[in-house]
Amino acid sequence: MTEQTLKKPVDLATFYPSDLYGYAQGLTIGELQVLQELREVLETKVRPYVNEYWEKGEFPFAAFAEIAKVRIMDNPLLFEERADKRVPSQLYNVFRYFELAKLDASIATFYTVHGGLYYATLLNGGSPEQIEQFATRAASFKDQGCFALTEPLHGSDIAGGLATSARKEGNTWIINGEKRWIGGAGTADEMAVFARDEADGKVKAFIVPGKAAGVQVEKITGKIALRMVQNGHITFTNVKVGEERRLPKVNGFRDVANILKTTRADISHLATGLTAGAFEAALRYVKTREQFGKSLGSFQLVQEKLAIMQANVTANLSYSARLAAMQEEGNYTEVNSSMAKMHNSLRMRETVALAREVVGGNGITLETDVARFFADAEAIYSYEGTHEINALIVGRYLTGISAFV
Ligand SMILES: Cc1cc2nc3c(=O)[nH]c(=O)nc-3n(C[C@H](O)[C@H](O)[C@H](O)COP(=O)(O)OP(=O)(O)OC[C@H]3O[C@@H](n4cnc5c(N)ncnc54)[C@H](O)[C@@H]3O)c2cc1C
Repeated sequence: MTEQTLKKPVDLATFYPSDLYGYAQGLTIGELQVLQELREVLETKVRPYVNEYWEKGEFPFAAFAEIAKVRIMDNPLLFEERADKRVPSQLYNVFRYFELAKLDASIATFYTVHGGLYYATLLNGGSPEQIEQFATRAASFKDQGCFALTEPLHGSDIAGGLATSARKEGNTWIINGEKRWIGGAGTADEMAVFARDEADGKVKAFIVPGKAAGVQVEKITGKIALRMVQNGHITFTNVKVGEERRLPKVNGFRDVANILKTTRADISHLATGLTAGAFEAALRYVKTREQFGKSLGSFQLVQEKLAIMQANVTANLSYSARLAAMQEEGNYTEVNSSMAKMHNSLRMRETVALAREVVGGNGITLETDVARFFADAEAIYSYEGTHEINALIVGRYLTGISAFV
C-alpha cells in the first residue's frame, strides 16, 4: 500500500459502493476531500428539497448556492498537482458528475450548462483576456452562464441549419433570432450565443449579458423530465454587443463541434451518475421492503435485475474513466465522446427501467427517488446529441459514409 493510499480521507469501498472496479482509486487526496464535502452538502442541504422542487417545477437556488460554496470548480485542493489551474483532473470531473447526478439529474444539468457548456465555450473560444474576465467569475459561481445553440427549427441539424444572425456595424454586433431549450436562460448573467455572421456565413460565438436590451426569455413549461431545470425559449431582437464580447477562436461550426466533444464527454459522465443514483435507490428499497414474508432483495428474479444494474454502473464508469484518461492525455476524438454518450445513455435508460420495476408501484411516486431518475433519464437521452446523432457519428467513422441526410 502506498503512502497516498494510506492517507485517503475516505474508505473508497464504503464511499463509492457501486464502483466495484475501483475507478475512484485514481483520485487524489485533495480531490477526495472536495468530493467528500460535496457529498455532505448534497445529502444535508440539497436532498431535502429535490422532490418538492421537482414537483413544483422550480429550481432550488438556495440549495445550489451551498454546492457553490464547496468550490467544485476552483477549490485549490483540485489543483495541487496540476499545471493547468483552470481545469481540474478529468477523473475528478467524472466523479463530480457522478456525485451530482447520483443525487439528482436536474442539479447535475444546471451545473453542466454552467460549468460544462458555458465554461468550455469560454476556455476553447475566448482570448486570454476574455478567459480571465469571464471564466474566473464562472469558476467561482459569481456569474451564472448558459449555452444558447439549439433553435426552435434546428436541433439535430443545427450545424448546417443555425439561423440566428449576427451583423457587424462598426465595432458592434447586432444579433437577431431565437434559441430553444436553453437551460438556466432566465437567470443567466451571461449567455454564450452562437450566431451566423451575415458577412461570411460562418458560425461565431458571443458572450451576451442575460439582461441586454432585446433579450427576452420565456420559460418552457409542462416538462415531464428535469422539471427543476428552467429551460428557456430566448428571442433576440436587435441585441447589441461589442466586438470585445465575440469569442475570437470560434470561426465556424468545426470550432463548436470541438466544444461539444468536451461537453458530450461530460454528459456521458452525468449519465453514469444517474445510472448509479437509480440503482442505489432501488437497492435501498428492496433491502427494506418485504413481500411473502421475505425481503424483496432475497428473491432470485430481483437479484438478477440488481446484478444487471450494478454491471451497467460499472460499464458506464469504465467508459467514463477511460475517456477521462484519454482527455487527460489530450488524445481523444469526437467518436470517443459520442460513443461514450451513446453507450452510457443506453445503459442508463435500461437501468432506470429495471429500478422502477423492482420498486413496484412506489416506483412511480417521488417517494423512492426512482421515479425522478426514470423521468429525468429521458432528457439526458436526448440532449447533447440524441442517441441517433451520436450513433451516426460512430457509424460515419466505421464506414466512412456520412448517413445524416
Ligand atoms: C431538457 C433539455 C435541455 C437542453 N438544454 C439545452 C441547452 O442548454 N442549450 C442548447 O443549446 N440546447 C439544449 N437542449 C437541446 C438539445 O440539445 C436538443 O433537444 C437536441 O439536440 C435534439 O434536438 P431536437 O430536440 O430539436 O430534436 P430533433 O432534432 O427534432 O430530433 C427528433 C428525433 O429525430 C431524430 N433525428 C434527427 N435527425 C436524424 C437523422 N438524420 N437520422 C436519424 N434520426 C434523426 C433525433 O435523434 C430525435 O430522435 C436541451 C434539450 C432538452 C430536452
